[in-house]
Amino acid sequence: MPLKISTMKKTSLILLSILIAMTSFAQKVKTNAVNTSQGLSKDEQQVMAWIDAHMPQAIELLKESVNINSGTLNIEGVKKVGALFAKEFEKAGFATEWVAMPDSIKRAGHLVASRRAGAAATSSNSSSSKKGKRLFLIGHLDTVFEPDMPANPFTMLNDSTATGQGVNDMKGGDVVVIMALQALEQAGLLKNTDITAYFTGDEEHAGYPREVTRGDFINRAKQADIALAFEGANGLNSVATGRRGASGWRLDVKAKTGHSSGVFTPGAGYGAIYEAARILNQFRETLSTEKYLTFNPGIFIGGSDIEYNSETSKGAAIAKTNIISPAVTVTGDLRFLTEDQKDRARVKMKEIVAQNLAQTSAKISFVDGIPSMAPTEGNNQVLGVINSISMDMGVGATVAGDPGSRGAGDISYVAAYVDCIDGLGASGRGAHAPGETIHLNQLPFLIKRAALTIYRLSR
Ligand SMILES: [Zn+2]
Repeated sequence: MPLKISTMKKTSLILLSILIAMTSFAQKVKTNAVNTSQGLSKDEQQVMAWIDAHMPQAIELLKESVNINSGTLNIEGVKKVGALFAKEFEKAGFATEWVAMPDSIKRAGHLVASRRAGAAATSSNSSSSKKGKRLFLIGHLDTVFEPDMPANPFTMLNDSTATGQGVNDMKGGDVVVIMALQALEQAGLLKNTDITAYFTGDEEHAGYPREVTRGDFINRAKQADIALAFEGANGLNSVATGRRGASGWRLDVKAKTGHSSGVFTPGAGYGAIYEAARILNQFRETLSTEKYLTFNPGIFIGGSDIEYNSETSKGAAIAKTNIISPAVTVTGDLRFLTEDQKDRARVKMKEIVAQNLAQTSAKISFVDGIPSMAPTEGNNQVLGVINSISMDMGVGATVAGDPGSRGAGDISYVAAYVDCIDGLGASGRGAHAPGETIHLNQLPFLIKRAALTIYRLSR
């Protein structure tokens, strides 16, 4: 009997605790829903609703832009994407202009869309009517896919994933910017804001000299307080407060040539291909475990007669297997989080290059590319605003991502002058690889987060 009572008690206790658990789960769900709406103002909720209602237009714009090839060197294609986006910026009340590049630079130029506080009919001067931060929004029109590469038109892979050239990097991010601005404009929330959107035409392969291809970009960013870049998002709860810089190097190896049967002898030596292979392998063995440092050989041309065109990144070689190779050219990148890290790596690489195998010689040259965006206190403060937005939207906290997970981006050129956040764009997989994808089911949230970030910072 006592046993039975105790069993009954136990059973009813278990039932009771299941009931409590279910109730508290239901309450939690309910609380979240309430929080979502409570954290957002009426205006903000209207913006959210507009974005939900206009997702078909967002996807259509993405599709249209992806289906225009805009490889960095495809000048006409980049301009065409620029013209398409310019029309969309104009719908959001922005004035647009095209920043052309001199022909010698062989790049399309950049799209700039802007609106100025006080530029409207009011006679009050802008400094007195302006309360919020001046924003500089960064996108790019080009992709790594040139017209001679296999086409990959916009295609739905399933009900929430699409593929296409630049669908994620970064036409998806460009669409996030445009839809967020249109949503704010229709709600009348862009009045008295000072915003410049700068979509470069050569982010993936910026033209030289950089003073020309990034001079205007830097000058306009200096007139802002905060730069927000819309390169790919890493999930819903992380943004970039730091990113690595990128630079380049070129290795040229020369060697005595001769019949292959003599290779490895002191008189004939090792040839240029063995020497280049030694150098690359030693780079890897010596430097590949340093945090935030990476270097990647992108092209390796060796043989008897070699040609390399750094403009087009193309090369050719003629050679026979029974001839010791007299020449090799290798070009690669070098990515780093601080200038000091970059300089130390270069010193080490030069030391390795100098230890030549018999009958070979080698030299390496370095070229600066994009500076790094070091994580700063100012960047963290902007992260704080984004964090409160994602909390108010009920998706949890937003944290700073690992700077090592990102390569360089245009925002790094201006990181020395303004507070910066990157990684506010689309989410997906396989940027720079054929078949890159975008997660369309996360796109509405990312557009909403962008709209609220622009709104709250510009108040
Ligand atoms: Zn990109």
